[in-house]
Amino acid sequence: MTLTCVATWRNQSSFMLEDDQHPLMLIRASDCLAAIRAQQQVQCQAIHQELNQLGPNISQLKPQLQQQWDQETNAHLGDAVIKPYSRRNVQWVCDQCPDGHPHIWVATVSNRTQGKNCPYCAGTAVCAHNSLATLAPGIALDWDYAKNSLTPHNYTAHSRVRASWPCHICHHSWEACITNRFQLNTHCPECSRTARQGRPNSKKPTVAEAGLHYMLHWDHERNAQMVCFLVK
Ligand SMILES: [Zn+2]
Ligand SMILES: [Zn+2]
Ligand SMILES: [Zn+2]
Repeated sequence: MTLTCVATWRNQSSFMLEDDQHPLMLIRASDCLAAIRAQQQVQCQAIHQELNQLGPNISQLKPQLQQQWDQETNAHLGDAVIKPYSRRNVQWVCDQCPDGHPHIWVATVSNRTQGKNCPYCAGTAVCAHNSLATLAPGIALDWDYAKNSLTPHNYTAHSRVRASWPCHICHHSWEACITNRFQLNTHCPECSRTARQGRPNSKKPTVAEAGLHYMLHWDHERNAQMVCFLVK
């Protein structure tokens, strides 16, 4: 088998392959590399060096890891042979995002070999496809932008982070884990307490609390049997 480099464009070389099976064939460098490794022979030392510039040898890794290997970012590793249990931190790319966003993260090769998969697909890292803003826009509307440092786009809907939520009914500001609001649909504890006790919310709101100006004119005495938040 002989290989001849015929063109190089954007660091990608094309080679002419000539052997018994392929009398004359133009192939990409990556295919060429696979062909050479499959046959476990390198006949041309010059081409061998050029192929090594493409990046490290990852042939010992699982097929999925080879596929998710970020060739461009990890190119600085030169021609190192990457062992499956290497503790080297390298970059990975996953193309399984339901919304088509790139999932890019850093993890040791060892972690990946032991089964740690894409954190975005696993829901432990936030992407547009799993954020609270995307999965629960209704809950995200209650987000307290003044008290919470980040936004609903910065957390997954399953995040255990405690966030502040201003109640749009009684204006009581309360805290709850994001995942509790998303999965258990928890509500304002003040409103829940009022509803449980079966008594009207008789507390007269201040201007700021009322939010709605006509609530200032609510007749608590005559409307004693009604829960004020039912009236809008
Ligand atoms: Zn995604
Ligand atoms: Zn992913
Ligand atoms: Zn409330």
